[in-house]
Amino acid sequence: MENKKELRGWLDNFGLDHPLVIAGPCSAETEAQVLKIAHALKQTDTTVFRAGIWKPRTRPGNFEGVGALGLKWMQKAKEETGLLTTTEVANAHHVDLALKHDVDILWIGARTTVSPFVVQEIAEALKGTQKTVLVKNPVNPDLALWLGAVERLYAANVKNLGVIHRGFSTYEKTRYRNNPEWQLAVDLQNRFPDLPLILDPSHIAGRRDIIFDLCQTALDLNYDGLMIETHYDPDNAWSDAAQQITPQTLKKYTEDLRIRKEIGEAAEFKNKINTLRTQIDVVDHQLIEMLGKRMQIAGDIGRLKKQYNVAVLQAKRWNEILGKMILQGEEKKLSEEFILKVFKAIHQESINHQDKIVKR
Ligand code: PEP
Ligand code: MN
Repeated sequence: MENKKELRGWLDNFGLDHPLVIAGPCSAETEAQVLKIAHALKQTDTTVFRAGIWKPRTRPGNFEGVGALGLKWMQKAKEETGLLTTTEVANAHHVDLALKHDVDILWIGARTTVSPFVVQEIAEALKGTQKTVLVKNPVNPDLALWLGAVERLYAANVKNLGVIHRGFSTYEKTRYRNNPEWQLAVDLQNRFPDLPLILDPSHIAGRRDIIFDLCQTALDLNYDGLMIETHYDPDNAWSDAAQQITPQTLKKYTEDLRIRKEIGEAAEFKNKINTLRTQIDVVDHQLIEMLGKRMQIAGDIGRLKKQYNVAVLQAKRWNEILGKMILQGEEKKLSEEFILKVFKAIHQESINHQDKIVKR
């Protein structure tokens, strides 16, 4: 697949002067719930109404969606509000039902994108469709797998495409439900600048208090849109209760978010530099996270040294580390002088940590 303007035709056709907003509940629960949320969203910047009909649950026993019945409710929501609709499809049968019920945009969920077999089945069921298909990132941080899914659709002559960044699973517990790994999405954006990139802050956050900040970062990185889970009674939602926000909150967020829409040469420079600066912020954040992780491991080593009564400073080991890092640095065009400075500072901080532990 090459980067082509046609990829974003469906989005340009909306003629929006702000990023695309897709909003609606995690799951369609009842007809009344679907209609009530859709009507409330009509008062916001929302263009597309989302609702999950078939819910992929990590563990069995949770609410698994209302099934095809919900598609009728979405059709009714569209008739009454004029909002477009979108839902997740996870196999050819879902595609068939969604198309029969005139769903406008289909999305492929994170647990489906990981499986080339299933993605291929869906691509074949969608062959030549004019509908828009959005591909969520796979649960694991694998850019090739994500792109592969988009390419399978493209090869099946599906040309209205986009991707949704919903974060990546980690074994370690972090502040996020799914780690954003912004760099991965930014890499994809650099390779395919015309493939619409949409942020799903809800599934990254897993909680509502950091959704606004995630949206702002995405807009600063020039994302094309947001998909935000929205419910009039989030706490009592049948799925993903902790991360949903009300339509009123969504309205407030879209009013408060900074959107760069100035044009002209000066604005173009500002846009580009802001995007690059946000990329730097993302990397700096990762640097601090990594340094914190390194220091924790150094602390564990300190405790071990104390237990076995071993000296904190192990000169041989340290020289080995330095040698390796200088070589690796060379590959990345980092000078020996720089590597020495950085690692001396890191090493000193580790020794300070370990000293404190040993002397406790
Ligand atoms: C969803 O959007 O409700 C959903 C299940 O998303 P994901 O595939 O990103 O987990
Ligand atoms: Mn959800």
